[in-house]
This record gives sequence, C-alpha cells and structure tokens, in this order.
Amino acid sequence: LVAGLQSIKNLPCETSDHHRVALWVNTGLLADTMLSIERGAEGVGLYRTEVPFMLRDRFPSEEEQRLVYREQLEAFAPHPVTMRTLDVGGDKSLPYFPIEEENPFLGWRGIRVTLDHPEIFLGQVRAMLKASVGLDNLRIMLPMITNIAEVEIAQMLIHRAYDELLEEGYDVQMPPLGVMIEVPAAVYQAKELAARVDFISVGSNDLTQYLLAVDRNNPRVADLYHSLHPAVLRALRKIVKDAHSQGVPVSICGELAGEPAAALLLVAMGYDVLSMNATNLLKVKSVVRAVTLEQAETLLAEVMSLPDAESINRCLEAAFRHAG
Ligand code: PEP
Ligand code: MG
Repeated sequence: LVAGLQSIKNLPCETSDHHRVALWVNTGLLADTMLSIERGAEGVGLYRTEVPFMLRDRFPSEEEQRLVYREQLEAFAPHPVTMRTLDVGGDKSLPYFPIEEENPFLGWRGIRVTLDHPEIFLGQVRAMLKASVGLDNLRIMLPMITNIAEVEIAQMLIHRAYDELLEEGYDVQMPPLGVMIEVPAAVYQAKELAARVDFISVGSNDLTQYLLAVDRNNPRVADLYHSLHPAVLRALRKIVKDAHSQGVPVSICGELAGEPAAALLLVAMGYDVLSMNATNLLKVKSVVRAVTLEQAETLLAEVMSLPDAESINRCLEAAFRHAG
C-alpha cells in the first residue's frame, strides 16, 4: 500500500480543485522523526517534549534539553516545528516526578503543573529558544489551557526567558505562540484565546474525552469514545470559525487528523493544518487529492445533519465504499 502511495510523496496536499491544506506530523521519538522525513512531512504540528523527559531517570538539564530540541529543529528546518511545553499528569507520568491523584485527568496536568513550577517551564523555554538560534523554525504550544490567565502568565514567562537570553548574548528570536484547545471551556473561549496567540491547535484526543466524559484509556467505556460524535464535530467546526474570525490559523493534532474520512471533514471545516502520526500521512494525502472541496463540503453537510456517531460512521463508510 505504502509503496503505491510513495508516488504522491512530493506532490502537494490539495483537493483536486487546488484547495491546499498543510500536512504535518506528530513526533516525540527519533523513529517518528526519521519516518516523517521519509514521508515528506511539511512541518511538525506537535512535538511531545514529554518523550525526552520520560526516557530519563531525572529531569533533563537545560543543556540536555537544548541538544535534543536542536536535533529536532535541525531535522525539519526550514519547516516549522511546534514544540509543546511539558504535558505531564493525566496518563503521562514521569517515574521521578510521581503525581498521585484520584482523578488524574481532572487534576494536575499540562500547563497547570508547569505554571506551578515556573523553573521547569522557564528551563524548557530557554532550552527551546537557544536551540532555535540560527534556524528560527520554532513554534511554542501550550497544553491543557482552560483559562486566559494561564496564557498570559505563560506569555510573561516566555518573554522573561527571551529577555534573559538576549541579555546573556544569545541571538534569539521570539517564536510564534499557540494554545491547544482540548478542554471544553477553551472551545467556548476560542475567540478570546485566538486573539492572544499566533495559532490554535486542537487536541482532539483530550477534547473528545472531556466533551463526552469518557476516559480515553478505559476499555470499559471505549465504545463510547467517539471522535465523530456530533457534539465533537460541532465543537471542531466552531473552533475553526472562531479562530479564523480573529485571522488566526488553526490546526488539529489529535489522532482524528490521521483518519482519512475524518480528514476530509476537517478540510471541509477549514482546518489549515492536519498534524498526524507519520504512518497516516500518505493515506490522508491521497484521499484529500481525490476529492474537490465542494465534495468534501457536501459530505460534511450530510454528516452534520446526523444524530449520532454510529450513523455518521455509517455515512462515511458508505461514501468511501461508493468512491472505491
Ligand atoms: C490530544 O489531546 O489530542 C493531543 C494531541 O495531545 P495528547 O494526545 O498528547 O494528550
Ligand atoms: Mg492532549
């Protein structure tokens, strides 16, 4: 399958009537990076910085982080690399930084942890800014944003790191800053959030979990976890509308972006960037290239009129079967 798809590796990701959408990748491990480059990724929409933290038995130093980030930025330069600040807690734990809670998904995770530990946040941002000197392809992204204040405090800390480094003589640039929308509260403040940042990126894995109140890792409720639930689709559509109303580009970096049928719906909604596991890149590109924007919009309109995830899935399966 992939051998056949290799022929489109260097072709643009656009509908057959030339509506362009950027296809980026999610990375963390070195293997993801290698595969991403092999598949012709145009950028990184989510670099999970937890990964280098998980591979150690203590917090990596600023210099250790700088080296890892530099390698990632160099591998993709001049393409953009979106580095997410540490997103621990919930299902992601560090062996040397245990967090014991009854409801970890509703607890101390993501930006909540790093704003309570500004030394972790500042060290990470300093390492990222230093790593980007001379490449300038860094973008910084904040996970689990629930309140405007979190964005403002993070911005203040990023400015502090930037000022410190300038004073220390580094030729650093201020990178574009974005927030993830993965908490329902953020969906309803998407406009206000977009007005304060350079880009918005939807974390549909967590957004689905929180909108549907279904633990993303609990097998007992796995059949209730539907990223194509009508409520999720409405949230996804609202986010694009609100971000674009502020002139801010919007991407999606949850697993949904890598599912071919879902990708068509996301293109029709107006997502500017789909960021996915590199293994799905060519499959998604081939599906996008096979339709017109109008066909994708027609499919979206049909799907949005359906009452539940089951009928939406059936509708998409039928559309794909019909198209061969
Ligand atoms: C998400 O929640 O969709 C996301 C991309 O972040 P993670 O899967 O790392 O929580
Ligand atoms: Mg998430």
